[in-house]
Amino acid sequence: CGIVAYVGQQEALPIIIKGLKRLEYRGYDSAGVALLDQKGLSIYKKKGKVSELEKHLESNGAIQSKIGIGHTRWATHGEPNDVNAHPHYSSSEKLAMIHNGIIENYEVLKKDLLQKGYTFQSETDTEVFIKFIEDIQKHNQCSLEEALRLALHKVVGAYAIVLINLEEPDTLIAARKGSPLVIGVGEDEYFLASDATPIIEYTNKVVYLDDYEIAVIRNGRLQVKTIENVETNPYINQLEMEL
Ligand code: GLU
Repeated sequence: CGIVAYVGQQEALPIIIKGLKRLEYRGYDSAGVALLDQKGLSIYKKKGKVSELEKHLESNGAIQSKIGIGHTRWATHGEPNDVNAHPHYSSSEKLAMIHNGIIENYEVLKKDLLQKGYTFQSETDTEVFIKFIEDIQKHNQCSLEEALRLALHKVVGAYAIVLINLEEPDTLIAARKGSPLVIGVGEDEYFLASDATPIIEYTNKVVYLDDYEIAVIRNGRLQVKTIENVETNPYINQLEMEL
């Protein structure tokens, strides 16, 4: 239901937690984050309020990270519990994804992945979605964004997603169709969120991602292209906000 992601020079976790709290008004049943450091990609998630997630993070000694993704879930597929909460891993555990929305053809995709030997921890459409992307990347030996682009031609439904990748620790990849996603453009830092409320305290420059667009934030640079692989020039809106 709510998305917050960050990449830049600051500690990602406090920004993400604060952002998730700002999105609490949208309603949700569980919350989670994925963070990256030299040792790996770690996911922390919990049923209940963001404050439950914070306790969980404290007792597990969350890693320090300048990049991360966070989510509040409003369950559509699979009951609200710790396992079904986002982010979800790929099979390799090198990728993690958050998702708002519904993948309507997930059953067909899941059946195919099960036949290929994939296993599933959760009951969510989202875990099917990330493993579908993973499978395309494996099959085509292509970049993650290319695999995502190909996957988006096959999934039916609504989504705002953000991916984090252990093999590209300075990169966030996002896409949307039908669910909102806003990119905040700071100085050497970027924010992603379901709406501008988690972003405005850091920057008033925002890009509204359009349907069927993929955003790649890499090495402090934002690139946007359509799922037809046409690069677009992201329009930077200046928000006027009373603080
Ligand atoms: N369909 C996904 C799920 O049930 C995402 C729900 C949401 O938008 O929070 O996990």
